Amino acid sequence: MARYTGASCRQCRREGMKLFLKGDRCYTDKCAIVKRNYAPGQHGQGRKKVSNYGLQLREKQKVKRIYGVLETQFRNMYERAEKMSGKTGENLLSLLERRLDNVVYRMGLANSRKEARQLLTHAHFTLNGKKVDIPSITVKVGDVIGVKETSKSSAKFKGIVEANTKVAPRWIDANVENMTATVTALPNREDIDLEIAEHLIIELYSK
Ligand code: SF4
Repeated sequence: MARYTGASCRQCRREGMKLFLKGDRCYTDKCAIVKRNYAPGQHGQGRKKVSNYGLQLREKQKVKRIYGVLETQFRNMYERAEKMSGKTGENLLSLLERRLDNVVYRMGLANSRKEARQLLTHAHFTLNGKKVDIPSITVKVGDVIGVKETSKSSAKFKGIVEANTKVAPRWIDANVENMTATVTALPNREDIDLEIAEHLIIELYSK
């Protein structure tokens, strides 16, 4: 499975905002955005006028980085979003939120989307009672996500449950102690608490 392997904090500094890629560290003052909120590299602190195209491109990169999705997958999602009824930008964000790795992160069973992806590819989860190891699956209403019985007693999951402080969004009915969650609705724009100007991505792809 293709994935981006560059330094996470550099990506946040490039986008000028916290993308929450590293789990607990993101909430401390060790966060690179707290310490050095300017773009990485020799000219990172210089002022630069950004063109409209540059803004559109940055917004797309930012969203790809938040959800850990590479270009081809992202483009495919955009094409799916375009075919759905409603606003393409909102559809795109909803599809990204409905990725199984995002749901595992949102339900509180991983500290970051990256960790969720890793736990999923190591086959620690079930979807509707069946073993699953594909992080990009799009969940639907009624889907039940859980941790495999043999993985529940592992130190990893016990630690995650004990440390969990996340509140799942309203469209996921999560029971972190039991390590299960049910998708009760599809996420809409108000459910996505991220600073994203999705219209810029639509402008970019509509060219
Ligand atoms: Fe981004 Fe987290 Fe690194 Fe802060 S600690 S820069 S939010 S990945």
